[in-house]
Amino acid sequence: MVSPSYGARDTPLRPAEPFEKFSPPLANGERAAEPGPPFPLRLPSKAVLFGSAPLEEQPKNIDPLLLELVNTKVVERGPPVQWSDIAGQVSVKAAIEEELLWPILRPGSYSSASHPLRTLLLFGPRGTGKTLLSRCISTQLGSTLLRLSGTMLLSTWKAGAEKILQTVFFVANCRQPSVVLITEAESLLAARVGEDGGQVSSLKSQLLSYLDNVATSSEHNVVVIGTTARPSSMDEASHRRFGTRLYIAPPDGEARRHILRQALAQQSCCLSERELAALAQRTESFSGAELLRLCQHAGAAARRALPGPPTSYQDLEKAFCKVRPAVSQKELDLFLEWDKMYGTRH
Ligand code: ADP
Repeated sequence: MVSPSYGARDTPLRPAEPFEKFSPPLANGERAAEPGPPFPLRLPSKAVLFGSAPLEEQPKNIDPLLLELVNTKVVERGPPVQWSDIAGQVSVKAAIEEELLWPILRPGSYSSASHPLRTLLLFGPRGTGKTLLSRCISTQLGSTLLRLSGTMLLSTWKAGAEKILQTVFFVANCRQPSVVLITEAESLLAARVGEDGGQVSSLKSQLLSYLDNVATSSEHNVVVIGTTARPSSMDEASHRRFGTRLYIAPPDGEARRHILRQALAQQSCCLSERELAALAQRTESFSGAELLRLCQHAGAAARRALPGPPTSYQDLEKAFCKVRPAVSQKELDLFLEWDKMYGTRH
């Protein structure tokens, strides 16, 4: 790989700019509702989401300790994420806006849709921004975000997994608009079940019935997003339950440049635009998270040297020994194949 020359005419790296402009789903001047007040909140008046049991009966089944647990460990209180915080993914952002956000934020204009979209599967390699996109969706909706990991549900919370899932959907329903984000969704919706087959299949049918309820109760604003880096380990009936399935690929060259620029602008750095472009070229198939790690390694190495010079191109070159993309080209091809077969075209 050719390293760039350090020509004096190179433009120095400019301070961070937001990623490419993306028009918000609300008209100028309008703002999405603020995230809801803390739990407990209004209860919906109708029976929904919990099979056929009327909602008024639900509180009896909900353990206050689990409510507390969900409220402290599952309800996210992170900073808002805007479209401009996410580099690239232009067609994915457009699909999310048109298919998911606008019909919710402008219900009057979309009354013809029989079942507005409420369930979304984001699949792709780790670190490509699936969680970031989900947080952005929640911000755009001004919703409460409840986030839980499928593997954590099956390990740490194993004994109480079904009750926790029930409580999560109960809280989501009470705090509408809400987004339930299930990361590593394939562990709950696996095609083949291992040792704990019994528990996994009952959690799976529980989750599938919540997905069905959310998808069909269009008057309720609960959105479920599943994310997975292993879509092929889900069975077809499960992944087809998600109304839209979007491939979140590693960032393209332009997006990598944006991510690198943003990350390096956080540290003292002496890269020129030309070097930045070369770096973006060298990092094909790196995820966003891996690009950040590359910059962190380079920055840490620069700080160790005395008298702590700014991060240079050479520091970044050295960091390539430590940070490599986790997915191979072959694995990326498999994602593309899966996308061709099951992804939602947009
Ligand atoms: P995933 O859920 O796909 O495993 P995350 O959303 O957790 O990945 O991404 C990890 C981090 O990587 C994010 O918090 C963000 O800092 C960075 N990142 C990933 N993709 C992007 C992107 N397209 N634009 C900006 N930052 C990104």
